[in-house]
Amino acid sequence: MIVILLGPPGAGKGTQAQTIAKTRGIVQLSTGDMLRAAVKAGTEVGKQADAIMKSGGLVSDDIVIRIIADRIQEPDCANGFLLDGFPRTLPQAVGLDTLLEKTGKPLDVVVEIKVDDTALIDRITGRYTCAKCGTGYHDTFKTPKVENTCDACGSHEFSRRADDNAETVKSRLMAYYRETAPLIGYYFAKGKLKSIDGMAKIDEVERQLNTVLDAAAA
Ligand code: AMP
Repeated sequence: MIVILLGPPGAGKGTQAQTIAKTRGIVQLSTGDMLRAAVKAGTEVGKQADAIMKSGGLVSDDIVIRIIADRIQEPDCANGFLLDGFPRTLPQAVGLDTLLEKTGKPLDVVVEIKVDDTALIDRITGRYTCAKCGTGYHDTFKTPKVENTCDACGSHEFSRRADDNAETVKSRLMAYYRETAPLIGYYFAKGKLKSIDGMAKIDEVERQLNTVLDAAAA
């Protein structure tokens, strides 16, 4: 199935996408992760994206549409995929429509994870991941079971994203409300939108998400 997770930075898209990808056997496609990998690898795309990402702005539509166009042709996407952080603008949404038309695979559902704005800054500035396996944690809401040890792989190395600081978060939120929030109306009009409560506990959000995905798959 083909699913889009929509919501502001800090809504929990990445956390939920990781779990759903594992439990449902579909690939998580995060343009943020792909761009961070490109920056780290020093590719041409990475060089173009680096400063924009640091400032909390949006990378050009052409670049991200091209990344997704290439990625969804890989064999592991044949079973479907879950888009996390894409599309983020109306031109990206239209670009995705065109790509999906070409592949003949319909978009199943767009899930909006609704959250209170006031919670977002705390959520973002407190989050970190295991540097080895990428499992996500949070200073307050999800600490490892054993201090400084990843629950999933036992690593003691953790990292924080360079753009998860209070200053950049404000630009990222502005980019969301200016460019991405209109997609809620776009997908509502297409009859694809479902909303879930992103303020609930992680397990409960997952339960709501699974209910929506089960209904979409039926
Ligand atoms: P994320 O990991 O989804 O929070 O994305 C981190 C950063 O990568 C964003 O703040 C943007 O600078 C960039 N980015 C990720 N996905 C996109 C996209 N679909 N369109 C434009 N920029 C993006």
